Amino acid sequence: MSRQPLLRRVDYIPGITFFKPAGVPLAQLKETRISIEEAEAIRLKDLEGLDQEKCAQKMNISRPTFARILLSGRQKTADALLNGKAIRIEGGNYELSKRSFRCGNGHEWEVPFEEMVKAPPELCPTCSTPDIMTVRPWRPGPGSGRRLRGRRNW
Ligand SMILES: [Zn+2]
Repeated sequence: MSRQPLLRRVDYIPGITFFKPAGVPLAQLKETRISIEEAEAIRLKDLEGLDQEKCAQKMNISRPTFARILLSGRQKTADALLNGKAIRIEGGNYELSKRSFRCGNGHEWEVPFEEMVKAPPELCPTCSTPDIMTVRPWRPGPGSGRRLRGRRNW
C-alpha cells in the first residue's frame, strides 16, 4: 500500500465532464477516465502555458509529481482521441483553491480555501441574507462541515 497522497490544489473544475466519439454504439464504447487534477495539470500547462515550476506551485505539489500527473493526463487524452474512446473527467485527490457561493438574491462571491476551512461563510457579504449555497459541488472534508443555513437543492 502506498501512503495517502496529498491533496492537489485545483482552481477549476470543467463544466463539461463527458466526451463521446460520434457514431460509436454505446455497447462498443470504451471509456478513459481523467482525474480532476490531471485535467487541471493539462489546463495550467497546455492552455495557460505556464512553466512546470509555476504549475507545480499552483497545485501545491512537487515538480516531479506535477510532471507525472501531466504525462498521465496527456497519455489518457491521446489514447481517447486516437483510439476513439469516450473521456470522463472525474475523481482524484484534490481540493478546490476557492469555493464559489451564491445567495438567494443572486449575488455571487468566492472564498479562498484557507478561509473556508477556518470560517465557512454564513451570510451573503452584499445583502446579509443567510440563504446561501455553494455554486459548485464540494467535497466535504474533516472540520469543514455543511453549515450552510437555508440551503436549497438546485
Ligand atoms: Zn446577497
